[in-house]
Amino acid sequence: MNEETRMDQIVSLAKRRGFIFQGSDVYGGLSGTWDYGPLGVALKRNIMNLWWQMFVDGRDDMYGVDSAILMNQKVWQASGHVDTFVDPLCEDTVNKRRYRTDHILKDNGIDPDGMTMEQMDAVIAEKGITSPDGNPLSPSRTFNMMFRTHVGPIADDSSVSYLRPETAQGIFTNYRNIVDSFYPDLPFGIAQQGKAFRNEISPRDFVFRSREFEQMEIEYFIRPDNWEAEFDKWVGLCREWFRALGLPESSVHEFEVPEEDRAHYSKRTIDFEFDYPIGREELMGIAYRTDFDLNNIQEHSGRSMEYIVKGTNERFVPHVIEPSFGVERVIMAVLSTAYTEDEVNSEKRIVMKFPEHLAPVRFAVSPLLKNKPELVEKAREVYAHVKQKYGAVMWDDNGNIGRRYRRQDEIGTPYCIVVDFETIEGDGTVTIRDRDTTEQRRVTIEEL
Ligand code: ATP
Repeated sequence: MNEETRMDQIVSLAKRRGFIFQGSDVYGGLSGTWDYGPLGVALKRNIMNLWWQMFVDGRDDMYGVDSAILMNQKVWQASGHVDTFVDPLCEDTVNKRRYRTDHILKDNGIDPDGMTMEQMDAVIAEKGITSPDGNPLSPSRTFNMMFRTHVGPIADDSSVSYLRPETAQGIFTNYRNIVDSFYPDLPFGIAQQGKAFRNEISPRDFVFRSREFEQMEIEYFIRPDNWEAEFDKWVGLCREWFRALGLPESSVHEFEVPEEDRAHYSKRTIDFEFDYPIGREELMGIAYRTDFDLNNIQEHSGRSMEYIVKGTNERFVPHVIEPSFGVERVIMAVLSTAYTEDEVNSEKRIVMKFPEHLAPVRFAVSPLLKNKPELVEKAREVYAHVKQKYGAVMWDDNGNIGRRYRRQDEIGTPYCIVVDFETIEGDGTVTIRDRDTTEQRRVTIEEL
């Protein structure tokens, strides 16, 4: 199966089985937005909870926050987003469709990394590159990706606000609050999970490039003199995170971003790229943002962002290492790693090989036959027992056992439990079937 077909299969399974739907589907959709169905939301929560466990609850130097999405416009002026959070945009001169210039180059087999907008335009002119519809392209201009809105009933310049394009600024603006209320020792981190919005010129590749998505970000505040060691530590922690997600090591690549491609605030950036079915693309990034943000806030707000080392007079504005994770890109990596087609008893099957701790449904419980009340009653009892323990348990009594197994394989349920006559007449054991090996064994209900 080629990679394009593989991607199509994953998107179609995600829809068919209730993981992810196009946003506003009934009205023909809204480009760049996606809705999560019952299994998708369970998968997403498992991923986000695993992250929170690993990076917040599992450590003693981390503080969680949940800041407002709408923020004072000064935040985005100070951070540089109003002036510089832009992508290069060009237009089909005939039908007026708009494209990201770097995407046009990429689609024509040219690597745009490191090129200025003018250089990209020059390449387009030199090679005679046209729009996907074969028409000439206009020169590029910059396009700010923030969604603009007004807060309150009067729509003037003073009421302008933006839907946040990153969660990071909600962390920086709470730095002073955390220091004043918890007075943590350096180094320490502040973590946040939440929605971010970017008016992407051309959202594409399923949830990979969305206009509304979820981020998980950490600002790790450090002394400036040992930023390199702290940076390396976070590279190691990210690798551990990929292992916890069950991503194959050979599919994750580290890319040292050259200076000309780094965000305006970063002195060093490593992008972790993943071999998606759509190609090798950015999964997440770690940036050394220096004291850029806290200094800007200090300057624009007039409030001190200095940290005073306990018991001394030493004071300075801390620097930060920022690991920034996109949930949708993790979901795409997990889905494409899990998606497997194999054969069982010479019958083709699709199986989602999710790691057990990420699977949206951990167990499915069935009676062998739906029309035998004594089996159903016992199976209900087993279901209640397992559900109380694990929560994410599904009752499934539709069709014959073989079909139920296929259905559960397709949504990645690691174990199917079946109550049969031996359970009620014999030794009280049930069968438990392993998704990956399809092997069945008998265990007692207590053992479950
Ligand atoms: P790209 O170059 O792919 O547009 P970026 O470098 O602009 O991404 P960052 O600003 O570093 O992305 O954002 C941090 C993380 O947020 C990214 O690594 C990615 O996981 C996620 N992310 C960014 N933009 C999107 C998007 N449009 N849809 C889904 N996730 C995104």
